[in-house]
Amino acid sequence: MKGLNELTIRGAYEGLKNKEFTSVDLTKACLERIKERNKDINAFISIFEENALVEAKRADEMIEAGQQQMLTGIPFAVKDAIDTLDARSTGAAKILDNYVPPFEATVITKIRAQGAVLLGKNNCDAFGHGASNENSMYGPVANPHDLTKVSGGSSGGSAAAVADYQCIFAIAEDTGGSIRQPASFCGIVGLRPSYGRNSRYGIMPMASSLDTVGPMGKTVEDIAILMEVMAGKDDKDATTVTDAVPKYSKNLDKKEKFVIGLPQEYFNIDGMDEETRKIVEEKIEKIKSNSEFDVEFKEVSLPYTKYGIPVYYIIVPSEDSSNLGRLDGVRYGVRSSEAHDLYNIYAKSRGEGFPEEVKRRIMVGTYSLSSGYYDAYYSKAQKVRTLIIEDFNQAFAQVDLLITPTSPFTAFGIGAKKDDVMAMYLADVFVSPSAVAGLPGISIPVGKDSKNLSVGMQIIGPRLSEEKLLNFASLVENI
Ligand code: GLN
Repeated sequence: MKGLNELTIRGAYEGLKNKEFTSVDLTKACLERIKERNKDINAFISIFEENALVEAKRADEMIEAGQQQMLTGIPFAVKDAIDTLDARSTGAAKILDNYVPPFEATVITKIRAQGAVLLGKNNCDAFGHGASNENSMYGPVANPHDLTKVSGGSSGGSAAAVADYQCIFAIAEDTGGSIRQPASFCGIVGLRPSYGRNSRYGIMPMASSLDTVGPMGKTVEDIAILMEVMAGKDDKDATTVTDAVPKYSKNLDKKEKFVIGLPQEYFNIDGMDEETRKIVEEKIEKIKSNSEFDVEFKEVSLPYTKYGIPVYYIIVPSEDSSNLGRLDGVRYGVRSSEAHDLYNIYAKSRGEGFPEEVKRRIMVGTYSLSSGYYDAYYSKAQKVRTLIIEDFNQAFAQVDLLITPTSPFTAFGIGAKKDDVMAMYLADVFVSPSAVAGLPGISIPVGKDSKNLSVGMQIIGPRLSEEKLLNFASLVENI
């Protein structure tokens, strides 16, 4: 018999409904697992044991009173770059080590309003900057399948916590791959929604024109259930769209015709691991040969793919450098104990409170936004961004969805790329172009390589195509 902590949302919901166990039992099972594993995996920066048990008890009372909703009593975790009311939120940077927000992200409030139980906050690359979770000031997160390997990033703690059964689901942020790439490395499902689908109010802003917040879970159905709760217009985030939120979980497994594009640029790049490619191609073959599906495959081309990373690493640091200006040791967060005048309040607090990658982005971003360089860098990158968007538009004129590997390789060793900034940036080569274009993408696990490391397959759709995307992902996830 599986531990309660291994259940999916659907499984936990049914068990609670049928009174097979209580939310307190479920929450205790997760807390036990966290305590047993956190010293090795380091997926949590903060654990709210006492409060989680109070919330679980309250959820049991809701269930007893006939008020159960899909997420009532279900224990979950939140990336630490997302604000949680009255609950420490560090962004994985020491400048916010003592920060307890007086407000909360809208998506988290919606989830907690159903009676979900907040277990704690997940480790991540500081403010979401990274692809390996090694840029956290609270130490790296190990991959549950091999503790010598990275969990991916920046939402590595969330991916590892779900994969290691420390929580039933997690909520994280994806600016340029931070949900999909760690989901792929840890063997779970992760969705980056379309830009504007979910409110980003209360998400620590990284690059405001790309930031999204999305779910990580064990099955596509769980992701669909979470999107139904999270999505929708929010007056506190002017970029949210007014489009109605579909009943994502109702249409799963519906047999419809799909035309799937295979972008050649995503299967033939330098540094692509042969075994990873083979595992994704085998999955595609299985879909092709499954007579139950009405799926047509087409080769497509996205010629601007090669500019995805350069464009991303100009636009993102530029917006980062501006957004991070609010962290100055004056208004909130940690002020350096050695800061005795105004200049040093800024300089020392930021110097001590930010890790190296954050400083690098502030310098690169400030440079590309500065007078004299703005046209050559930021403005040029925005123009190429339009070409990347047009690339996807012409592909989606021919196909419904695109299939690609999520990452060119499986999880690498902790420390292996840490000092090679370019190699680390290139880890996002398949996840950053669609983020630059504001598109939704999901990573689903499709197998393991000979080192027992997970391989993820990415499915990308046009803007606001989550319903179709989730439907297709659920049809193919178990074949
Ligand atoms: N690896 C990307 C970066 O470092 C992803 C960031 C993200 O999605 N938060 O910018």
